[in-house]
Amino acid sequence: MSNSISTDICIIGAGPVGLFAVFEAGLLKLRCHVVDALPQVGGQLSEIYPKKPIYDIPGFPDILAGDLVRNLMRQIEPFHPTFTLGERVEHFRKLDDGTFALTTSDGTEILCKTIAIAGGLGSFEPRKPAIDSLDAYEGGKGVYYMVRDPETFRDQRLVIAGGGDSALDWTIFLADVAKEVTLVHRGTTFRGAADSAEKVKALHDAGKVRLVLSSNVTHVHGDGALEAVTITANGGETESLPVDSFIPLFGLTPKLGPIGEWGLELEDDAVKVNTLDYSTSEPGIFAIGDINTYPGKLKLILCGFHEAALMAQGAFKHINPDKKYVLKYTTVNGVPTL
Ligand code: FAD
Repeated sequence: MSNSISTDICIIGAGPVGLFAVFEAGLLKLRCHVVDALPQVGGQLSEIYPKKPIYDIPGFPDILAGDLVRNLMRQIEPFHPTFTLGERVEHFRKLDDGTFALTTSDGTEILCKTIAIAGGLGSFEPRKPAIDSLDAYEGGKGVYYMVRDPETFRDQRLVIAGGGDSALDWTIFLADVAKEVTLVHRGTTFRGAADSAEKVKALHDAGKVRLVLSSNVTHVHGDGALEAVTITANGGETESLPVDSFIPLFGLTPKLGPIGEWGLELEDDAVKVNTLDYSTSEPGIFAIGDINTYPGKLKLILCGFHEAALMAQGAFKHINPDKKYVLKYTTVNGVPTL
């Protein structure tokens, strides 16, 4: 069922820059709703390098990417942001009163006075294996490229495919949720963390996970919903396996996606902005972080944080054209609640 949300700023993208924008907007008493196509917050930091140390965040000689995301979530807690996760913002409409209506891939509508696009490299889209008719089982009919809610798979017969961290981590987790888990991998060694690969092997030895190496899932079958997959070994032997769900986890690639179709001025697949306040060519729409471009742009978290601060000032002026904002330090203001 679709639902409707109303807010001051709709932030598209829950990467570090989108999250920090909630803080800067909150200081100006602007409410934020954050939407991300991924099921978790943190953008590239959570999706690509959660365990990598970052050395160029002021005040932190080093901090793991995952810990920075957790800290940002703590920092914005007082402002009570709301989130829609696992849904991609697809369309925007400008309403007669100058406000905006955004619609997500799942039909959620967000009514907002301004938009801050913090979409990073764009929305991450799954790399799909080349299997005939795979798309016929998408949309809840048995093929999933992401695990949004593990409970979807409770007591099911699952086939997971892939050899990276996601495939290993979800195999370990879902072994306790699903009735039966088979992990199919085209090679014999895994690209994911050695520790996770060992855990999967231990689950296999304990009879909790079936491991099919040097093989690929080559066909999917079912009448309306998925019923079976064919696994083909590198040597050519095939096996048909009855399943409820097939989860190919071959990574995600970022694509600018629908934002590229909104008529905003672009350059090299990035949104052009005015560095005064990071506004785009459409009044009321701002773009911050990796998704924007301007002379001298650096794709760094630090630079995105600065952009978020100026964007919030710009959004405040757009929403309150007659009010004057006087900058105060957070030590004077405190961290206000809404
Ligand atoms: P992202 O982190 O890319 O987040 C954008 C989010 O927007 C994504 O979650 C995406 O799903 C979402 N999104 C996009 N379009 C839509 C849509 N239509 N609807 C809904 N959601 C959408 N930077 C540093 O400063 N220091 C470092 O040490 C450093 N190390 C790095 C190491 C690696 C391996 C990589 C890949 C990058 C590194 N970076 C580093 C760069 C840094 O990660 C980026 O600058 C930062 O993530 C940009 O943040 P962001 O919030 O703009 O975008």
